[in-house]
Amino acid sequence: MYKETVAFIRRQFHNKALIPLHEPCFNGNEKVYMNDCIDSTFVSSVGSYVDRFEKEFALHVGSKYAVATVNGTAALHVSLILMGVGKEDEVITQPLTFIATCNAITYCGAKPIFVDVDKETLGLSPEALHIFLNENAKLKEGQCINKITGKVIRACVPMHSFGHPCKIDEIKDLCDAWHIALVEDAAESLGSYFKAQHTGTFGKVGAFSFNGNKIITSGGGGVMITDDEELAKKAKHLTTTAKIPHKWEFVHDEVGFNYRLPNLNAALLLAQLEQLDNFLENKRELAKIYEEFFENSNIHYVKEPKDTQSNYWLNTIILDTKKQRDEFLEYTNSNGVMTRPIWTLMNTLEMFKACQCGDLSNALWLENRVVNIPSSVRL
Ligand SMILES: *Cc1c(COP(=O)(O)O)cnc(C)c1O
Repeated sequence: MYKETVAFIRRQFHNKALIPLHEPCFNGNEKVYMNDCIDSTFVSSVGSYVDRFEKEFALHVGSKYAVATVNGTAALHVSLILMGVGKEDEVITQPLTFIATCNAITYCGAKPIFVDVDKETLGLSPEALHIFLNENAKLKEGQCINKITGKVIRACVPMHSFGHPCKIDEIKDLCDAWHIALVEDAAESLGSYFKAQHTGTFGKVGAFSFNGNKIITSGGGGVMITDDEELAKKAKHLTTTAKIPHKWEFVHDEVGFNYRLPNLNAALLLAQLEQLDNFLENKRELAKIYEEFFENSNIHYVKEPKDTQSNYWLNTIILDTKKQRDEFLEYTNSNGVMTRPIWTLMNTLEMFKACQCGDLSNALWLENRVVNIPSSVRL
């Protein structure tokens, strides 16, 4: 079966010697815009491509404002700061995520709490969140207090794993009821919709990444989105060293960050954004092909969850056992087909070992079985 699968994947990618998990595709105006940017000399912190990108991006996902950042982690960090997350606070997230989610929480001085994921969506489970909050939290003076630690649970960061939207409407309802700020880690889900609404737009703020392995890339980059004009202004201010605009004086009114996206990266990114719809169509075609292939095998293929449209950023399969997973990883990677397991659970990493956890049985089950297979846009 593994042999057949490798041969099948190879055929989808023209039998190239080494088939990567996800490679970027530069087939549009990338060189035109970057040349123009270089010719203008405005390659750094000032320039029109950043503004153009922010406008286009906001339009694309249906949010009012977008603030470009140097990477997705920075976008998450600023999002959490804007929600008031600070020292001594706690933030609920899922144990199955990329380290950036927990790093951003930690940069604020806050501690993550890990709540289980759904087997179907691979993202935060509203049922598990409901159980965790009922058992461990109480509302006091409009704040959600952790009964065990006495600290404020300030925010909740669900993540849309590999582009598959989690049950974000139920999560939002729970966050609203418990006075917890919803911050979506939509880093992997550009082009993914939950009931026709773009991921990242459900909470007050949402964050995306444009790292080299994401569906579109600026080399490195990210963006924060919001419908709130005040929050957008604050985000821009904080990510650009908190400088007060002036013709020549250097006055900064708080400790800000140098989190702005360089204009040169924005030029690349604008060209990539123009191709997003093509990429999405291309990736959905591949997803269909994979789905049909795995239907006739004993390997489970993860389809977009009910009521959602996934960007199918990384195609995902679930093997029966950890042993099978390891055999599959070994066989594919030694035969020129790059595959990867899902992340090691965050709660088992040294830095987060002491963090509070709910019951994590689904995450544990998935950790041992999930594999991502080649998913690049095919030309
Ligand atoms: C890629 C990613 C990020 C952000 O990563 P950067 O490399 O900082 O752009 C955040 N969260 C998740 C889940 C990601 O996959």
